[in-house]
Amino acid sequence: MRKMIIAGNWKMYKDLEETKQLVNGLKAQMKIPSQNVVVVICPPFTSLAVAGELVRGSAIKLGAQNMSEHDEGAYTGEISWKMLKSAGCEYVILGHSERRQYFHESNELINLKAKKAIANGLRPIICVGETLAERESGVMERIITTQVRGVLKDFSQADMAVTTIAYEPVWAIGTGKTATPAQAEEVHKTIRSLASQLFNPSIAESLVIQYGGSVKPDNAAELLGQIDIDGALVGGACLKPDSFSAIIAAAKN
Ligand code: PEP
Repeated sequence: MRKMIIAGNWKMYKDLEETKQLVNGLKAQMKIPSQNVVVVICPPFTSLAVAGELVRGSAIKLGAQNMSEHDEGAYTGEISWKMLKSAGCEYVILGHSERRQYFHESNELINLKAKKAIANGLRPIICVGETLAERESGVMERIITTQVRGVLKDFSQADMAVTTIAYEPVWAIGTGKTATPAQAEEVHKTIRSLASQLFNPSIAESLVIQYGGSVKPDNAAELLGQIDIDGALVGGACLKPDSFSAIIAAAKN
């Protein structure tokens, strides 16, 4: 049975005091419905060390929102895998659509970052997703296929075993518009069958594919109930302990 991973992407929200409140609130409220469900929080870089201390020994795992493709060096403003690991991170979100759109990250760069993360013991959550224009003009499948092939280029089977894909339709992120469970399931199936072609059926069967895009307490259960949806990447609704806890509670499988 595949794991179900519920990850919260805090984006550029929460200073240190707010970080403590959110993590403590979550620890107090959250109930993980089964051992198969993994909960990850991804605060901004400045909050990682504090959040890492607070979640130590709890069921909550720590992740970052981005990472450099380099080990170290004169890269002003960048953060390395080693820095993330020393703060307690086990996961890193890569290629979020906001990184692709505002910081011009390409599939090639995301692939380099993902390989660097894996080589150094971090589990990447790699985001893919089409824009509304791409969906409406009928090129969605081609876009998703190109992104998945690009970000997973030269991955080994062992690399795939620690990789999560997050399908996040760009038009559903932060907009309150959610893909219907059927729309999301269709794309998740496409991604799984591509993984089967690129690797093999057993890699595809064990690949965790999260859905992201306005996941809220009132739509989580139906989305997470789809056969090929193995968790959620949550933005807005992860910023409050009660709404993130309600999404975690919906993750029964
Ligand atoms: C995200 O940031 O990955 C996301 C899906 O945001 P939201 O849940 O706010 O749409």
